[in-house]
Amino acid sequence: MEALQNYSNYIGGAWLPPQRGESTTSVNPADRNEVVGCVPLSTREDLEMAVSAANAERGSWRKLSGAQRGAFLYKAADALERRLEEIGRMMTREMGKTLAEAKGEAARGAAILRYYAGEGMRKIGDVIPASDADAFMFTTRVPLGVVGAITPWNFPVAIPIWKIAPALIYGNAVVWKPALETAVTSVLVMECFHEAGLPKGVLNMVIGEGKEIGQGIAEHPDVHGITFTGSNAVGKSVGQAAFTRGAKYQLEMGGKNPIIVAADADLDLAVEATISGGFKSTGQKCTATSRVIVVQDVYDAFRNKLIEKTASIRVGNGLSESTWLGPCANEKQYETVLAYIRTGKEEGAKLLIGGSRPEEEELRNGYYVTPAVFEDVHSHMAIAQEEIFGPVLSLMKAADLAAAIELANDVPFGLSASLYTKDIATALAFVQEMEAGLVRINAETAGVELQAPFGGMKGSSSHSREQGQAAIEFFTSVKTVFMKP
Ligand code: NAP
Repeated sequence: MEALQNYSNYIGGAWLPPQRGESTTSVNPADRNEVVGCVPLSTREDLEMAVSAANAERGSWRKLSGAQRGAFLYKAADALERRLEEIGRMMTREMGKTLAEAKGEAARGAAILRYYAGEGMRKIGDVIPASDADAFMFTTRVPLGVVGAITPWNFPVAIPIWKIAPALIYGNAVVWKPALETAVTSVLVMECFHEAGLPKGVLNMVIGEGKEIGQGIAEHPDVHGITFTGSNAVGKSVGQAAFTRGAKYQLEMGGKNPIIVAADADLDLAVEATISGGFKSTGQKCTATSRVIVVQDVYDAFRNKLIEKTASIRVGNGLSESTWLGPCANEKQYETVLAYIRTGKEEGAKLLIGGSRPEEEELRNGYYVTPAVFEDVHSHMAIAQEEIFGPVLSLMKAADLAAAIELANDVPFGLSASLYTKDIATALAFVQEMEAGLVRINAETAGVELQAPFGGMKGSSSHSREQGQAAIEFFTSVKTVFMKP
C-alpha cells in the first residue's frame, strides 16, 4: 500500500508544515475508504507568516513591468499544461467530477494564465482633457497591496487561477486560502507557480479551515483586498469583516438559475441544455440549472423528453470513461441533496425520477445520488427558492413568456439564466427583463468565456465582475493625476 502523503503550506517561497502540526485527510467521494492525502489544518500563526511574506515582497513585485510579471504567468501556464492529466485525476479523486470535466477545467486554468499574462501589456489608464489648456490630466492604476483569495472546492483550479492571475498581473501579492476539500489539487496548482519561479512571497497558500484561515484573512489589517467565491452565508460574513475595516472586497456566491423553454423552442436542444446545465459537475456549479420553467403549450412534450434523457444518464466514478455523472463532492453535500429531496416531497412536489442512491454494488461506498426531476413545483417552495447544489431539477409550468420571466425572477439570486426560443423579439424581451448577470439565449446556464465579465446580480454577487478586462476594476485602485507645468 502506498504511504499517505503529507502536503504543506506554501509561504515565502517554501513548502512549510503548519506551526502546530495539526492535519486532516482529504477523502475520495467516489469511495470514502480511499484517503487521497493528508493536509494541514493551519492556524493564525501560519496565516501571519504568509501575510508578512506577501507584505515584504509586494513593493518589489509592483515595481516590475506588466510584461515581466506576465512572463511568470506564461511559465505557470506551461507547467500546468504539462501536468493536465495528473491535476485532472487528482481533482476527480478529491471532488468527483468526471475526468473529462476536470482536465477541461485545468486546461481552462492554463488559458486564464495566458490571458492575464497578455493583460500585463495593455493600457491601464486614460488621458482626460483638462479645462486648463496647460494642464495634463490622466488616470493610472495602482495595485491594492496584498490580496486574500478565498476559494471553493467546486472549481478548484479555474476559480483560484481567475483570482490569482489578475491579482498578480496588476502588481498585488497574494495569500490564497483554498477549500480544504480540494487542498491536494490546490497544492499541485501551487507547484506550477513554484515551477514558474515566482519571486518568494509573491504568492502564498495557507491550507486550513474557513473559520480559522478564511476569517483570519477577512479580518487581517494587512490584507488590503479580499476576493471570495463560495456560499452566501460565508460571503456575507467575509464582506462584513472586510467592510468593517475598510478593505476592498469582492464576493461571488450562489445561484438558483432558471432555464425558460418558450413555445417555439427546439425541444431537443432545450432538453440537452437542461440536462447539461443541471447535471454536469453533479449540479455543483454556481451557474447550474436548477429551475426549468416551461411554457404550457410545450410542457408535456418537453417533460417526457427530459425524463427519457435523464433515465439514460450513467452515474459512476468520474475516472471511468463511461461515467457521465460523478458523486456529490463530499458527505455534507450528499446529505444536503438528500434532505432537499425529502423537503421537496414534503412540500407537495412530485418526484418524477431519481433522487436516491444508485443500486450498483460498486457505487455503495460513494456519495452518489441519481439525477432527480421534480414537477408540480411552486415558487414558494424551498426547492424553488434555495440553492441545492446537487443534481436536482424543478419543473415549473408558465402560462406564457411574461409569466415565465416573472417566475424566473422570483428568487433572491441572479447569476445565470437561459432561454430557448427561435424568436428574436422573445429573446430581446428576456435580455431586458431577466435579473441575472449572465443572460444566455439558446445556450445552457453556465459561465462565459474567460475574456468576458462574469458575475451576478441580487444576492449572487457583490456586483463586481471577475474575468476578462473587468478584473482590473477590483484588483487595482484608480489614481486621477492632474499636472501643471
Ligand atoms: P463555502 O462553504 O462558502 O466555502 C468557500 C470558501 O470559504 C472555502 O475556502 C471555505 O473554507 C471558506 N470559508 C468557510 N467558512 C468561512 C468563514 N467563516 N470565513 C471565511 N472563509 C470561510 O462554499 P463551498 O461549499 O466551498 O462552495 C459552494 C458555494 O460556492 C455555492 O454556494 C456556490 O454557488 C458558490 N460558488 C459561487 C461561484 C460564483 O462564481 N458565483 C462559483 C463557484 C461556487 P473550508 O470549506 O475549506 O473550510
